[in-house]
Formats: sequence, C-alpha cells, structure tokens
Amino acid sequence: MSYTTSCHCGTISATVDGDLPASGMTCNCSMCRRKGTILHFVPASEAVIDAPADKLGDYTFNRQTIHHHFCTDCGCTPFALGTGPDGREMVAVNLRCVPECDIDALEINRVDGASF
Ligand SMILES: [Zn+2]
Repeated sequence: MSYTTSCHCGTISATVDGDLPASGMTCNCSMCRRKGTILHFVPASEAVIDAPADKLGDYTFNRQTIHHHFCTDCGCTPFALGTGPDGREMVAVNLRCVPECDIDALEINRVDGASF
C-alpha cells in the first residue's frame, strides 16, 4: 500500500511506499508548536517527492539540517527533509496532510523538542 501527503492545492506532495502508521509525533519546539504538525518519519528511499522546484518553499533554522518545505501557493507543509542520526536521508511526513489518515485515531508520541 502507499499513501500521499500533499498540500492543500495539490502542487507539492510526497508518496510513501508503505502502510499508514498507527502513531505520530508531536513536538513543542518553536517550529512544530506553530505549525501543529503530526509527524511520521520514513527513509527518503521509501518516498517519492512530486514538487516543481519553483513552488517548493524551503525554510531552515537553528542547525539548518532540516528543510521545512512548504507550498508557495497555498502555504501548507506536507513534508520536511532531513538527515537522521545514522546519516540516512529522511522524510518527515506531516500526517495532517494525508487525507485518508484518521488523525483522531493516532497514538501520539509527544517529544520535548524545545529542550533539545
Ligand atoms: Zn499548495
């Protein structure tokens, strides 16, 4: 099975080869608290990004290691790209942007990112 996280207007998306997760991560860092994302991390090799370069906004902060992408048309943030602790390229899927994901049924793992 696969699922797709997409922005509101559909211009940028990422399709993940795999089943929808039963849990997601929320975080209280300065970025996550503002966006309200519920994240699920997958290796970049398991995801296909579909985004025209001129519509793919990119925001980095702090250590500049995570690319917080957003659609320059509608502003939604369906995914971010970064490198995991083991050096692998990772995609952080925002489960709120996956229409078939039952947000209210997710087990939520709260991360204290503000203290990192
Ligand atoms: Zn959009």
